[in-house]
Amino acid sequence: MQASEDQSFPEIRDSVRKLCAQFPGSYWQALDRDRIYPKDFVQALTREGFLSILIPEEYGGSGLGLGAATAVLEEIHRSGCNGGACHAQMYTMGTVLKHGSAAQKQKYLPKVATGELRLQAFGVTEPNSGTDTTRIRTFARKEGDRYIVNGQKIWISRAEYSDLMVLLVRTTPREQAAKPSDGMSVLLVDLREAVGKGLTIRPIRTMLNHATTELFFDDLSVPAENLIGEEGKGFKYILDGMNAERILIASECIGDGRFFIDRAAKYATDRQVFGGPIGKNQGIQFPIARAYVQLSAAAAMVDNAAALCDAGKPCGTEANMAKMLASEASWYAADMCLQTHGGFGFAEEYDIERKFRETRLYQVAPISTNLILSHVATHVLGLPKSF
Ligand SMILES: Cc1cc2nc3c(=O)[nH]c(=O)nc-3n(C[C@H](O)[C@H](O)[C@H](O)COP(=O)(O)OP(=O)(O)OC[C@H]3O[C@@H](n4cnc5c(N)ncnc54)[C@H](O)[C@@H]3O)c2cc1C
Repeated sequence: MQASEDQSFPEIRDSVRKLCAQFPGSYWQALDRDRIYPKDFVQALTREGFLSILIPEEYGGSGLGLGAATAVLEEIHRSGCNGGACHAQMYTMGTVLKHGSAAQKQKYLPKVATGELRLQAFGVTEPNSGTDTTRIRTFARKEGDRYIVNGQKIWISRAEYSDLMVLLVRTTPREQAAKPSDGMSVLLVDLREAVGKGLTIRPIRTMLNHATTELFFDDLSVPAENLIGEEGKGFKYILDGMNAERILIASECIGDGRFFIDRAAKYATDRQVFGGPIGKNQGIQFPIARAYVQLSAAAAMVDNAAALCDAGKPCGTEANMAKMLASEASWYAADMCLQTHGGFGFAEEYDIERKFRETRLYQVAPISTNLILSHVATHVLGLPKSF
């Protein structure tokens, strides 16, 4: 534990650490090799109630805020584990909670809270639209009391390990909508019924074990009662949930950064070369110290964004800035840690190379750095828009 560290939610942090101690590096290395889903780890987190922390008590969750959820994810990542397999079970339900009907909330949230239902797939990105979400083409045509969905999504993580998916579709073509962001809707797709009956899921092998997939919709029939909120307003609903997602991902980066700093400081103290510990050389010390300084600043931004969000205040800019700084601080720490370990940093058994690959994702997903800079430039600083 270092001086400036966040001591919030000490009991939660302690319980998460104890749980993670049962899933050492060897567990993750074996899964990583064959890109296997960490089922036992996810079950353990579910059993202990960590994934239902944001669900209100009336639906069976803990009713805590983002501050508590960031403590959980930070500790998971600091322990060398990875929350990517299930972090979305914490926050994807927010779309149902905030915008669903009373009947939808009653039907789904208690089962999401117990883990009986997994709602951890979130389908937005498409191959041809990229970050420009208003150009998505997956279309849901209303036919009586059903929507018929056709189109394609890419990079949809955990779809194979989820019962339900929050899916963003067009219900009005972009050119016929009053504004580009109008005419999109959110459907809750029951994946158990959909696969093989209009939905094909194809896994994509990536540089990390993240269970991400490509989805193909071919006349998939979804009951109209699975529409969340109002037709045509889906873009706003999705944006609402993105702040929480960015803050939680940022806390994973803080956990990763702390993992790298802990490991680097220990190795630099233990490793003897030229008759002394490598850590007595400032060329080794200073990058570790710099990583710590950068990570501490980013962590303060994450705490600030979570506090604003928990207080119900606008937090979009803060969530974006926190995610950007945290993902850059964790990446700097990853690079520093690899360098500190020399050749051993490349050995699978040290977990550095795995965490190095894992933490790199967060400068791209769920939103890439350039798009955050563009938001700050145009929305905060009033610079002219480039798109
Ligand atoms: C492992 C993984 C898991 C994912 N999981 C999910 C998921 O579960 N659900 C989901 O919906 N999506 C998911 N994504 C998608 C992710 O959110 C996108 O990859 C990310 O938002 C970037 O979009 P893109 O890949 O289409 O990049 P593009 O939009 O094609 O951009 C490519 C590059 O160009 C830059 N760029 C684009 N436009 C501009 C501009 N105007 N100015 C400056 N730079 C620009 C971007 O910053 C980026 O660096 C996942 C992605 C990965 C890799």
